[in-house]
Amino acid sequence: MRYVEPVFRPPSEAGSLLIQASIGCSNNTCAFCGSNLTKKFGIRPLEEIQEDILEARALYGEGVRRVFLLDSNALCIKTEDLLEILNLLYAVFPHLERVGLYACATDALKKSEEELRELSKAGLKIAYLGVESGDDVILKRMRKGVTAKQTIEGCKKIMDAGITLSVTIILGLGGKDRWMENAVETAKTLNHIDPPYVGALTLMVVPGTPLHREVLEGKFQVLDAQEILREMRVLVENLELTNCVFRSNHASNYLPLGGTLPQDKEDILSVIDLALKKSVKVPLRPEKLRRL
Ligand code: SF4
Repeated sequence: MRYVEPVFRPPSEAGSLLIQASIGCSNNTCAFCGSNLTKKFGIRPLEEIQEDILEARALYGEGVRRVFLLDSNALCIKTEDLLEILNLLYAVFPHLERVGLYACATDALKKSEEELRELSKAGLKIAYLGVESGDDVILKRMRKGVTAKQTIEGCKKIMDAGITLSVTIILGLGGKDRWMENAVETAKTLNHIDPPYVGALTLMVVPGTPLHREVLEGKFQVLDAQEILREMRVLVENLELTNCVFRSNHASNYLPLGGTLPQDKEDILSVIDLALKKSVKVPLRPEKLRRL
C-alpha cells in the first residue's frame, strides 16, 4: 500500500480502507487550506491503484466493508477509470457496502448526469464536498474557485445521481467583517442543496497558507469563540432543511452539537443560547485542544 502523506479522510470514514487514487487537490487554490501545501497534484496510474487494491485484499482479507478513495477530490479522476476501480473493489471485497470519496462541485459539473449515475450504480455511495461558504464574496476572497450557484448545481447533480452527499461548511470563514453574510448566505445555499448531512467546521488558520499571511498583515480578523457561536446561531436559525443530520462535532469546533433537522432545530438553538449566556457555564472546547 502506497500513500503520499499527509492524508486526510472524513471522520465518518475512520474505519474504512483508504486507497489513494489521486494525490493532493486539483484545485489547490483555497486560501485557508493547508491540506496539500506539500503535495503536487496528480492522479495515480490505474495499474498502481489496482495493485494497491489487490495488496489490500491480501493484507485484510475479504471482510472489508467500506473503502474511501483518497485524496482531496478523487471525483476528478476520469469516469472510466473510476468505474474500473469500483468494479475491482466490489469484486475483491464481496462484503463491500460502500465506497466514498471527496469531491469538488466543479468535478461534478464536469461529468455528465449519465456518468454520475453510472458511478452511483457501480457502488460510489457517498461523496463529501466542502461547500465552505455560501457567500460569493467570501468564496472569491478565499479563492475557492466556485460560486455558490455552481456549488448548488454540482451538489444537486451528485444527489440526483443517487449518491449520498455530505457537505461541510466553515464557521468564521468571513472573518469579523462578513460573519453575518457567512451565516445567512451559507444557510441559503444549504437550503437550496438540502443535503442529508451537514458538518460545521470552525476556521483554523494554518501556518503557511495565504490566509495566515492575511491574518499576520491584519487584513483578516479571526472570530473568537463567542463570535463563532453567534454565527452558528444565525446559521442554524436560517436553515430550512427537510431531513438532515447536522453536526458540529469536528475537532475544530468550540461547541460540539448534533441533531436531525428540522425536528431538533429548537433544541440546538437552545444549547447555543445557553453557551452564549456568560452567566451559564457550558463547556467549550479549549483553544489548545482544537484540531483540524
Ligand atoms: S479546500 Fe478542498 S478544494 Fe480547496 S484547496 Fe483544499 S482540498 Fe482543494
